[in-house]
Amino acid sequence: MIDLRSDTVTKPSDAMRKVMYDAEVGDDVYKEDPTVNKLQEMASKITGKEDSLLVSSGTMGNLVSLLTLTNRGEEIILGDKCHVYAWEGSGVSIFGGISMKIIKNNEDGSFDLNELISSINPVDDHKPKTTTISIENTHNQCGGSPLELDFLSEVKKIANKNNLKIHMDGARLFNASIAQNESIENIVKNVDSVTFCLSKGLACPVGSIISGSKDFIDQARRWRKSIGGGMRQAGIIASAGVYALENMVDRLEEDHLNAKRLANGLSNIPEINIDNEYVKTNILRFELSDNINRDQFTRNMKKEGVLFNSSYGAIRMVTNYGVSSKDIEKVIDITSKVISSL
Ligand SMILES: *Cc1c(COP(=O)(O)O)cnc(C)c1O
Repeated sequence: MIDLRSDTVTKPSDAMRKVMYDAEVGDDVYKEDPTVNKLQEMASKITGKEDSLLVSSGTMGNLVSLLTLTNRGEEIILGDKCHVYAWEGSGVSIFGGISMKIIKNNEDGSFDLNELISSINPVDDHKPKTTTISIENTHNQCGGSPLELDFLSEVKKIANKNNLKIHMDGARLFNASIAQNESIENIVKNVDSVTFCLSKGLACPVGSIISGSKDFIDQARRWRKSIGGGMRQAGIIASAGVYALENMVDRLEEDHLNAKRLANGLSNIPEINIDNEYVKTNILRFELSDNINRDQFTRNMKKEGVLFNSSYGAIRMVTNYGVSSKDIEKVIDITSKVISSL
């Protein structure tokens, strides 16, 4: 099977498993796991933030960050296509009593700055206090698009003027960094908190990181404990993260090249509507022309050994560590064959 459903399907390599086996551990709730501490220090160096925290998933990272930045009865502004709003079970509302105000995401994952400004509530007893802006980089539902640095600095200006905090869901932050040839530190310099996933393109079995100020992380650690996210000998997980940060980041470039190859190949098939210029990282989104039934296409592709997901009416393919450039050629051939058979 060639699995393009997500970069979460990536499996840890033998070398990664070896470091996990050998990991030095302690009790991380006592902050005594040396490998967790090492991973968190590495993350702080990479993000340029004072402190960092290991959590079990990206969803937990976003939840803990937003609970830390936003009080009960307050409001977060976020894009209609973002993961926090669309794919995280409304955790901030359930656990934090926080309301979400949705504004429209542009195609590239940004939003209209005037819409952002006008969505900030005035001080008024009728209205929840607007406290936080949440952004996503790269933007999953917007075709893996990295956010422009100019956009980030404009959002920061608006946040400063209105006394708002900014959280970045950077599940695929390293993909943004590679695609834009920008340091992580530069990308996140305008946000108060950032999460990134170790379990996606970096191929760890589990784990995400939150980075922010020391005060922020102290509070985030309390929230992590409250929702059951304090882990004990977590060095076994963290060692995979250390290995990934040292060895798996640069190879994301291969995923990007494979995504471009795939997009170019698929764009030659008339029944596939894809803007191959738009593919900047490891995610492709495309639509089929009306005469092709998407469910039938998906079933036939699966029969031929190619897996992918669909959402919001589009097909999504995600290149990843388990998919080689040879596999990409196969996918292009199989797609072409399946389409002509329909
Ligand atoms: C995958 C993803 C998450 C959540 O990560 P999990 O580890 O699956 O909880 C958050 N945000 C974005 C943009 C993602 O793609």
